Amino acid sequence: MKSERKNLTSVDGPADLFTDEYYMRAALRLAERAAADGEVPVGAVAVRDGVVIAKAWNQVEMLKDATAHAEILVLTAASNAVGDWRMDGVTVFVTKEPCAMCAGALVNARVARVVYGLADPRCGACGSALDVTGFRGMLHNVEVKGGVLEPECRTLMQEFFRQARERSRNREPGTGK
Ligand SMILES: [Zn+2]
Repeated sequence: MKSERKNLTSVDGPADLFTDEYYMRAALRLAERAAADGEVPVGAVAVRDGVVIAKAWNQVEMLKDATAHAEILVLTAASNAVGDWRMDGVTVFVTKEPCAMCAGALVNARVARVVYGLADPRCGACGSALDVTGFRGMLHNVEVKGGVLEPECRTLMQEFFRQARERSRNREPGTGK
């Protein structure tokens, strides 16, 4: 088994099939899609038994809906895929630490595990600013792992906001320093 895996190489180096990094790469591709649409680049995939059952990216601007975060949309898509609201045994991979709304939804959906890339010290609700997923009063606790492909997730986010600042500067000539 080990030697077979060694032969599976990709442009990123040795194969990381079925690892947290593998699924985070899928989430990153969805985040890039969000960025291309002018959305804050956050992507998410839901995985059960090694299979991606749902994919989503942030669509707040497109849907003009403050609740259209990648995690909410991926939970809705996953529920539709499995025909149940209970996400037993499901892991959600998301490029940025979920906010309070999304962390609450992950708890309510009974998601087993959430894996995120970039921590959010200001609003992250999986242990950074708040700990909604681990709050003892909740009916369910979600296992959390952060920092997976953090550099890639951070670069994507920083680049998006750098370009957004540039665009707004260009719109208002003479206001820059
Ligand atoms: Zn959110």
